[in-house]
Amino acid sequence: MFSKVKTLSRAKSVRRKGEPDDKPPGSGTVLLVGELAQVAEVRDACGTVSAAKVEACKVDELAGKLAAATYDVVVFDAARDGELSTIVRGSSKNAKEKMFVIMYGSECAGSAKKRLQAYEDGVNMVTASPQAVAEVMASVIGRSRAGPFTCPHCEAEGFFEDDLVDHMLLFHFNASSEDEVACPICLKGKFQKGSAHRSKNNVFVHVKNEHGKVSRGEEPAESRAPTPVWPFALVVVKNAAGQFLLVQEYASSGYWLPAGKVNPGEDIQDAAQRITKEQTGMSIEITGILRASYTPQDQIARMRVVYLAKPTDESQPLKTIPDYNSLGAVWAATADLPDLKLRGSEPRDWFPYVTKGGTVYPLDVMKSESAPV
Ligand SMILES: [Zn+2]
Ligand SMILES: [Zn+2]
Repeated sequence: MFSKVKTLSRAKSVRRKGEPDDKPPGSGTVLLVGELAQVAEVRDACGTVSAAKVEACKVDELAGKLAAATYDVVVFDAARDGELSTIVRGSSKNAKEKMFVIMYGSECAGSAKKRLQAYEDGVNMVTASPQAVAEVMASVIGRSRAGPFTCPHCEAEGFFEDDLVDHMLLFHFNASSEDEVACPICLKGKFQKGSAHRSKNNVFVHVKNEHGKVSRGEEPAESRAPTPVWPFALVVVKNAAGQFLLVQEYASSGYWLPAGKVNPGEDIQDAAQRITKEQTGMSIEITGILRASYTPQDQIARMRVVYLAKPTDESQPLKTIPDYNSLGAVWAATADLPDLKLRGSEPRDWFPYVTKGGTVYPLDVMKSESAPV
């Protein structure tokens, strides 16, 4: 029991929230390969990071350079992708993983196929943006080396908390390792080192949501909780004579559209038909969608679909026996509305809209996600 307390307090003592004010600035070396050394926008981007020492080498010198020294960032021309990726990948494993490898050029950055190949070849970033190069350079080279944490993926050392979170995402978010690691910051747990899924057992999900800016309340944690949605179906039913169906609601609240909440497991169109039958006695054919709305509120969201429909048989009798669903139903013209007590404004909004031939959207716009395209 006592030793457990001791372990926890040790873990706490090495954990730092954020960054100390006296965080010493880092420094590092950038290697520009081949033709890129002559590209002004790339040289300028590297020059924006004062702590960066910029070296250049010819393509045929690259293997020798990587064997002889450690570089923090290597930038090479996308036009030479296959050739240079092979050389960079061939350098010693640890140095390669600690090194941030940028493939620069629009030819590769703009090609979906080439981007994938570049990442498979061990490249960390594919870009044609000098601003992106400068930003990454500031993060990779400008970080302090005096922090207490070590990266569980490449074993680079000296990170403070925020730097490590940034580093892990920048360098290793594409990792697909099955290995497990403890969190390098809080030392808790056993997490997947890399995974195709963002489960809570994944080390990236853990450091992103439990450390750095999120732990200080500066950014919200990623929410994996479901968002409750209240789905409602509303139906504008028009007959051949141009009249609309009104439901007489309970407690003297007036008339409204056939409308109600969709039950769990119920299709929303089925709900529209069920509700109309329960409240008006009428079987309907749904012909289109007038509006689909999703309205976020405090803890929930309301979703409403307003359907347009017609009776399956014009001669069906309307409901007249009061029950839990309604007192009854009646056909009414738009012109009748000013004299009627209405529970909500929807009849006043939609009856004139439909009469004037407002846009009706096809039912196909709203389908189950498994429906074929
Ligand atoms: Zn690392
Ligand atoms: Zn942790």
